[in-house]
Amino acid sequence: MNFLEEKILQDGVVKPGNVLKVDSFLNHQIDVALIDEIAREFKRRFAGKPVTKVLTIETSGIAIACAVAREFGVPMVFAKKSKSVNLDGEMYVAEIESYTHKKVNRVVVAKKYISPEDHVLIVDDFLANGCALQGLISIVDSAEAEVEGLGIAIEKGFQEGGYRIRNLGYHLESIAIVDSMDAETGKIIFREQI
Ligand code: 5GP
Repeated sequence: MNFLEEKILQDGVVKPGNVLKVDSFLNHQIDVALIDEIAREFKRRFAGKPVTKVLTIETSGIAIACAVAREFGVPMVFAKKSKSVNLDGEMYVAEIESYTHKKVNRVVVAKKYISPEDHVLIVDDFLANGCALQGLISIVDSAEAEVEGLGIAIEKGFQEGGYRIRNLGYHLESIAIVDSMDAETGKIIFREQI
C-alpha cells in the first residue's frame, strides 16, 4: 500500500453518493508534507517528459499543482471559474460539469499563459467521470499545445473517467485508485498498482 492509500484509510471518510471526503488533508485543511510527496511521485512517474507548464482547475487542484510545478521548475496555471458572458477573445474557455456540485462551470485560461510551444502536465485532486480533465484537455488543444500527461491524486476507478481518458491514448497516472467504497461500512478497496 502506498503513502496516499494509507492516508486515505486513516483519515478519508466515505459519504453517500460515492463521495470520498478528504477535507482533513487534501481539500480544506492541507497536509503540506503529503502534497510534497504527491508531487515527488508525479515527478518520478513523468520523468523525462519535457513539461513546460502545469495546469489545473480551481480550487482543490491548486495546492497539488503548485507543488508539482516546483518539482518540474515550471509555472503553474489554474483554470478559473468564470460567470462572465462577455469573454473578450483573450481567453480559452471550457464548460465543465462539477461532480460534487452537480452544476456546469465555465472555466477560462488567459491565452497568454498557454501557447503552442507548451508541453502541459495536467494535475487534479480527484478523477470521477472525467469532465474536469476533459475540459482541461480541451483548453490545451485550443492552445495547440501538447498534453504530456495527466496526474491525479485519487481516482475513483469505479467511475468511467479513468477508462475514458486512457482510451483516448493519454498518459494518466493516479497515485491511489479506489476500486470500491462503502458509505455504510466505511470500507475502501484500492486497485493493485505496480
Ligand atoms: P470529474 O470531473 O472527473 O467527474 O470530477 C472531478 C472533480 O470533482 C475533481 O476536481 C474534484 O474536485 C471533484 N470530485 C469528484 N469526486 C470527488 C470525491 O469523491 N470527493 C471529493 N472531495 N471531490 C470529488
